[in-house]
Amino acid sequence: MIVTPLGSLGWIPTGTNHTCCYSVEINGRLVILDAGTGIARFGGPVGQAILKQYQNIVLILSHYHLDHLTGLIYIPAFFKEKELHIAGPGRQFYPAGIETILNEMIRPPYFSQPLKDYPLDLHIHELNEGGNVVAGLEVEIIRQHHSDPSIGVKLENQLCYMTDTGPAEATVAFCRRTRLMMHESFLDQNDRREDKTHTGVEDAARMAREAEAEALMLVHQNPLYPEKRLLAMETFARSIFPAASLAKDCISFTI
Ligand SMILES: [Zn+2]
Ligand SMILES: [Zn+2]
Repeated sequence: MIVTPLGSLGWIPTGTNHTCCYSVEINGRLVILDAGTGIARFGGPVGQAILKQYQNIVLILSHYHLDHLTGLIYIPAFFKEKELHIAGPGRQFYPAGIETILNEMIRPPYFSQPLKDYPLDLHIHELNEGGNVVAGLEVEIIRQHHSDPSIGVKLENQLCYMTDTGPAEATVAFCRRTRLMMHESFLDQNDRREDKTHTGVEDAARMAREAEAEALMLVHQNPLYPEKRLLAMETFARSIFPAASLAKDCISFTI
C-alpha cells in the first residue's frame, strides 16, 4: 500500500501545501481520499505518474466542507478516459443524497460546467453506515463528530481515514489493528480548545496506540501553524506512539 499526500492541510492551501487530498494505491487500485485543492497535483509530475497506472478510480468524500471539495471543479482536466467513481455520505447523514448535494454545488453560477454534464465516465455512489462495496472496493464507514456530518472511512480492512472529527472512543474500535491510521491533528499539544469538532495531536496519538495500529499518519494539518510547529507536533506524537509521522505533500509513504 502506498499513500501519497497531495494535500495534507485543512482549510487553506499555502505556497507549498494543498488542502485535503490523498492518493492511496491499495490492492492494485487507486483510491483518492477527499477532493481538496490537492487534486491539482494530478496535473503535475507526482500525480501524473500515479494516474497513468490506473484506469478505474474511486474518489471518497469524507463530508462536503469546501476545503475537501474544491478540487471537484478540477477533475474534468485530469480524469478524461478514466472510469471515475465518486462516493460519499448521503441520506443517512443529510436531508439530501450525495447526487443532489454535489449537483447543487457544482453548477452555474458557481462553476461554468454542471457536474452532471462533465465529459467523464462518472459514477456517483452513496455510502451507508457499515460495509459498502464501491466498484469492487470494500469501504466501511462510521459516523463522526464534526460541525456537519462527516464519516470515518476504512478501506479494504487495511487503512482508516479519520478526518474532520473530534476524538471518539468509537474511533479506537473502528481502527483496531489497522495497518495505517490516517487521523486529523488540526490542533497541536499547545492548542487546547473546548470545541470538539477537531482533534488534537495528543488524542490522535493516544487513539493510534490504543487501537494498536501499525502506523499513524497525521493529516488535515493546521495551515496557520508554521512548519516548525508542525514538526514539533510530529515529535510530540512519537513520544506517545512511535510509529507516527506527519503527512507531507508529495512524499509517499509505503506500508
Ligand atoms: Zn476540513
Ligand atoms: Zn470539515
